[in-house]
Amino acid sequence: MSRKRATNLVSSSGISAQARDSSGRVVLCRGKARPLWFGHPWVYANAVDRLDGEAAAGDIVSLVDHDGHFIGRGIFNPRSQIPVRLLTRKDEAIDAAFFIARLRDAQTLRTRLKLPNPDTTAYRLVNSEGDGLPGLVVDVFGDAAAVQVTTLGLALRREAIFDAVEATLSPRTIYEVAAGRYADLEGFVAQNRVVRGEARNLVPCLEDGLHFEAEPLVGQKTGMFLDQRPNRIRAGQLAGSGKGLRMLDCYAYAGGFGLQAARAGASEVTAVDSSPRAVARIEAHAAANGATVRAVEADAFRFLETATPMSYDLVVVDPPKFARARKDLEAATKGYERLNALALTACASGALLVTCSCSQNVSAQDFERIVAAAGKQAHREVRIVETGGPGGDHPLPPAFSEGQYLKVLFVYVG
Ligand code: SAH
Repeated sequence: MSRKRATNLVSSSGISAQARDSSGRVVLCRGKARPLWFGHPWVYANAVDRLDGEAAAGDIVSLVDHDGHFIGRGIFNPRSQIPVRLLTRKDEAIDAAFFIARLRDAQTLRTRLKLPNPDTTAYRLVNSEGDGLPGLVVDVFGDAAAVQVTTLGLALRREAIFDAVEATLSPRTIYEVAAGRYADLEGFVAQNRVVRGEARNLVPCLEDGLHFEAEPLVGQKTGMFLDQRPNRIRAGQLAGSGKGLRMLDCYAYAGGFGLQAARAGASEVTAVDSSPRAVARIEAHAAANGATVRAVEADAFRFLETATPMSYDLVVVDPPKFARARKDLEAATKGYERLNALALTACASGALLVTCSCSQNVSAQDFERIVAAAGKQAHREVRIVETGGPGGDHPLPPAFSEGQYLKVLFVYVG
């Protein structure tokens, strides 16, 4: 967006004090509508020609192409690099009925995927853009739901969203989970709190028959990392009969990868996390599942640096994002290479390494190159045997590559 346009948008708008459908109409620059016609839900600031009429930050606006063709309606925030996020392709009101309909749609998709089921009661009900609700995440843990909003427009409509969650699931507890830096960027306040129902810190839930307790009020993300479910299950399958298997789960959080291996019969499971709270959870989860897991509070790099070389048959590394922004890419690449080289050194001959990156800025191809470079550094032969990503309860529009972040490589180590 040129400076002039950005100023135009901001000066025409304050911050809305309430949830309003405005008469404002955002007009795109010529030639900028194409991704939106293909299902991309975001309008970047440099695609906006002008705002016709009035709209304040947090209002609903209509979006039209340069010739005035209606594209949809969405949330407006001129302070954002993404001033419009589309909520609908119809000319409809964004009201209580709208949120209920969207959540019911999201539930229909999960039902199609057999979520929840008797073995798995922890899943994502709403995955933001993938469920036509940019800026909203709803994670379900057993009989509780954790809601996170990341845009001012949805923050202004929180009560309608909680109502819709209640209408869809009738949960015993609804939590709001704070959006951290998104709230600052967008201009709203959010905190971790119980917004409806019974106040409790821990919520029991199941994943693939294993017992967990999510902690939406004090945990990381919304309480659990649900995106990794299929990869945890697959790692459990690849632990085979587990007999004699020595497993190392780095960046373990709730310990799900390690618990899968323990259930497969691994003779030794070590789970490493730098967070004392995560270590306490891992120990509790191991006890709840009758598993023996050695939970170690340590920095994963330090742990791997002092680990005995070639001493594990299954190693998982699932670190937090190394590349927060494009400018971090070089440092992040070095970090991933070093981490993977250390993990490969810890692998016995014939071991499997399950290596993950959740940096959106690191592409799938970048990540493969990183693993190749790590093999060179560690002087180990590496072959990719499988690839993984988030589960189907994290759907995405195909045109929305910005939503792709999680890459998992299952690597056979010679
Ligand atoms: N594998 C986990 C999710 C991992 S999320 C699962 O399946 O649930 C990333 C984890 O890395 C968090 O639990 C965080 O506490 C931990 N972490 C962050 N920095 C770390 C470090 N330097 N060393 C070890 N763990 C770290």
